[in-house]
Amino acid sequence: MSAPADAAGQRETIGFVGLGKMGLPMARRLCEAGHSVVAFDMTPAALDEAAAFGAERAGSPAEVGRRAGVVITMLPNVQVVRAAVLGENGVATTLPAGSLQIDMSSSSPQGTAELGAALKERGIALVDAPVSGGVPKAKTGELAIMVGSDDPAAVKRALPILGAMGRKIFRTGRLGSGQAMKALNNLVSAAGMVAAMEALLVGKKFGLDPALMVEILNGSTGRNNTTENKLNQFVLSGSYASGFGLDLQLKDVRTALELAAQLGLDLPVGAPTVEAIAAAAEFLGPGADHTAMMRHLEEKLGVHL
Ligand code: NAD
Repeated sequence: MSAPADAAGQRETIGFVGLGKMGLPMARRLCEAGHSVVAFDMTPAALDEAAAFGAERAGSPAEVGRRAGVVITMLPNVQVVRAAVLGENGVATTLPAGSLQIDMSSSSPQGTAELGAALKERGIALVDAPVSGGVPKAKTGELAIMVGSDDPAAVKRALPILGAMGRKIFRTGRLGSGQAMKALNNLVSAAGMVAAMEALLVGKKFGLDPALMVEILNGSTGRNNTTENKLNQFVLSGSYASGFGLDLQLKDVRTALELAAQLGLDLPVGAPTVEAIAAAAEFLGPGADHTAMMRHLEEKLGVHL
């Protein structure tokens, strides 16, 4: 794909803030698609990795804003996004009016609406475009991307850029709606994960073989993303290294539960799912992969795979 050109026919430089497990392969896809990328992360090693595939280094989010016309954020949560965009030395301190901010982090619908209002005052458009598919799909440029925006022109400008990172690009509606959808997707995924892990432990205590159980689930109606893409790969292998942190999963399912509460809905399955993930996060401590949830369930149920 060729890089988009601005009104003067110049190639538009894309800023990228947040070069973590997802941000690095996404920024790499942009470079490989021919975009010129200027990147920042607070971890110098991440910037070294980005420089190795052709991104230019920036020393701060403000420098990214100064050098790019479109800035993508791929950061842990809404508070970090807000600080990196609106805070001291943030992207918006230098990004000129007429620019575009695309937040691809998993943030929150409410926080996105607030950020959009603050950016609009400066003449900057915001599109929320959270992703699903994890590190493997980020590497291959096959992410699912959920695009929320009130501004059709901003979406038109974002789409060719998003096309370098995703295969399935969905328009979800108004600004923040991508974040609502993403949080709900992750609640569905988390409920499936907890159910599959619990079933494995029940089966193990009964005398079923866990590896055979995974094979049967995947050939039966119990299959889901966890049974297909996580149990063998990251749980039975003992690697617990899917690349998606338990703290990030907890943030997402809490966002979904908050959304439900704001709408006056108590979730009979969603609420205990969030509790189970919160308990695992407390037990395992910071830095745990979300698939390590199994280690907490093993302790809790007194059954080990
Ligand atoms: P990560 O923790 O690996 O990366 C976050 C990066 O942000 C790190 O490199 C960190 O140094 C950087 N960072 C933190 N604060 C910063 C700041 N103030 N300024 C600049 N850089 C800063 O997280 P990740 O797994 O890459 O996830 C990023 C986002 O994508 C999260 O919102 C997550 O929920 C979402 N997400 C992750 C996955 C996944 O499988 N990992 C899948 C879909 C969505």
